[in-house]
Amino acid sequence: MESREERTYVVTGAASGIGAATVSALAAAGARVCAADLAWADGPAFDDGVERVVLDVADPVGWSALAERISARGAPVRLEGLVNAAGITRRARLDDATSDDFEQAFAVNATGPALGIQALAPLMPQGSSIVNVGSAAGVMAHYGIAYGASKWALRGITKTAAMELGPRGIRVNLVSPGFIETPMTASAPGEFREVNLESTPLGRAGRAEEVASVILQLLSPDASFVTGAEVAVDGGLTGHGGGLPVARAMGSAHPRD
Ligand code: NAD
Repeated sequence: MESREERTYVVTGAASGIGAATVSALAAAGARVCAADLAWADGPAFDDGVERVVLDVADPVGWSALAERISARGAPVRLEGLVNAAGITRRARLDDATSDDFEQAFAVNATGPALGIQALAPLMPQGSSIVNVGSAAGVMAHYGIAYGASKWALRGITKTAAMELGPRGIRVNLVSPGFIETPMTASAPGEFREVNLESTPLGRAGRAEEVASVILQLLSPDASFVTGAEVAVDGGLTGHGGGLPVARAMGSAHPRD
């Protein structure tokens, strides 16, 4: 295995939930990780090889500073991947959502990943990989209109980046989590959790580690011909497309004898 110095990854939203689980999984796999978040006051403990940096993903100046810091290290540091996991939720409904809700959700969930790709892709060699963290809310109607719309936008950013960076040998993909137990979902109303679990064929919430393991697959050379793709990590939530309540109403799926 190569040394930590050689394989470096940047992960945003790294102080919590899916981002933190991704940092831990990468560090456990022997990578060096630049873990970026707004603040680190009560951040999780990580293994060796993890450097914590303060970054607001909506700030292009912060991304440029991070790019300079990484390139200043020179060889043998190789930036092999970026995981855009930072995100914020906005739960206002159509009648109440303000322009600030839209601005903030888009700035962090859509513009942020685009700025990160713009700043860091120039440092990435052929074979590198970028993973954006979308949401089931980005493939269907979602009650929080600004959040859902920002995740739909991130799908477009992912596909355009995959097209633009493909000729440079850089892959760009999206994972779309369903209901995952993290501080973000812990702050949602109880009904949100209940109805999500009822609508999920696997019948349970996902764990942040279960999203991180799919992100690691997409980062790895095992996914070397996968780009512009979207992978649902949602226990089947979006796959049934409304079929689940109908199937339940029709009784057992098993043939009767
Ligand atoms: P979380 O709230 O636990 O973690 C999000 C992290 O992003 C926090 O540490 C926060 O400080 C950081 N962050 C917020 N704004 C930032 C900014 N401007 N710059 C840098 N960092 C910032 O949430 P999570 O559940 O781990 O969510 C991670 C990603 O997964 C998000 O993009 C979220 O939309 C997405 N997602 C989560 C779920 C779920 O069920 N938990 C479902 C679908 C999608």
